[in-house]
Amino acid sequence: MIVDLHVHVFADTPNHGWLSDELHGRSSMRFIRWRLGLPSVRGAVFEQAVAAKLQATVAATPQLHAAVVLAFDAVYDQAGNRDEANTHLHVTNDYVARLTEGRADLLFGASIHPYRPDAVAELERCVQRGAVLLKWLPIVQNFNPSDPRCLPFYEALAHHRLPLLCHTGGEQSLIALDPSVADPLLLEPALKAGVTVIAAHCGTRSQPVETDYVPAFVRLAHEYEHCYGDTSALNLPARSYAYDTILEDPVVRDKLVHGSDWPVMPVPTRRIGWLQAAKLLLHESNWMRRDIAIKQRLGFDEAYWQRGATLLRRRDVSSPAPA
Ligand SMILES: [Zn+2]
Repeated sequence: MIVDLHVHVFADTPNHGWLSDELHGRSSMRFIRWRLGLPSVRGAVFEQAVAAKLQATVAATPQLHAAVVLAFDAVYDQAGNRDEANTHLHVTNDYVARLTEGRADLLFGASIHPYRPDAVAELERCVQRGAVLLKWLPIVQNFNPSDPRCLPFYEALAHHRLPLLCHTGGEQSLIALDPSVADPLLLEPALKAGVTVIAAHCGTRSQPVETDYVPAFVRLAHEYEHCYGDTSALNLPARSYAYDTILEDPVVRDKLVHGSDWPVMPVPTRRIGWLQAAKLLLHESNWMRRDIAIKQRLGFDEAYWQRGATLLRRRDVSSPAPA
């Protein structure tokens, strides 16, 4: 089974989530709306257009059996209170649970800020609703994965065998509040607690001036059996430098799982040859298919394509929801 385990969706209605005006107006968001033919109006029209585009893109990608659609929790402050002013993107667990419910091609990726007073209870609720993994973006959601407050959450993740997909390295698409928590080494307490950790983007820089955390990811992948890295957004020109390291190292290569970071646009790397790169850029407008085509040409093996699905919590073994 081949799964893209890193796919985003946006929400813009009460109980489903929101985008701040600042994020909505950013050039990166305007570019995505333009290229994907999404409306510039806000609210239900935008939200439904994004969901429809996502479903159509997955349906038109026969190489994939399923995609994990990621919720995105709000920012919480140090005291565990919701920080509305600093929350630029929010996609609720309930929205993604409902969007993916009963579908074989879309899976539920939950997101829970670990400083929430109800973090563990919300995790249990998401597991009941069929979550297959848990997504974090610490530099945007504003917390430190090595904070002792995360330990009960790690115990719960390990208990439910829910893998943790955590952004590592820099970030340009969203608004980062604390770039100091981009380091994959901050995830060591999770690994020590027995959690399967997938370092999203393998610790790559999102622009040349940032710290490069790929060596830190490589170290963790060597040291911890349950440490993996996803290839999401590695087809951005700023991040593709990581291919030279992660494909050359046989240990790390066996720890890579497939993710696209849709709707981030994949740009074919020169590593597949200029002609192939130009062809894909000009003629493949389905960004999930384009991302896969680039990685096929880079020589990712069959085990890579199958590996992600083996890490996910299986929906069919989760307990039934309470009546
Ligand atoms: Zn992402």
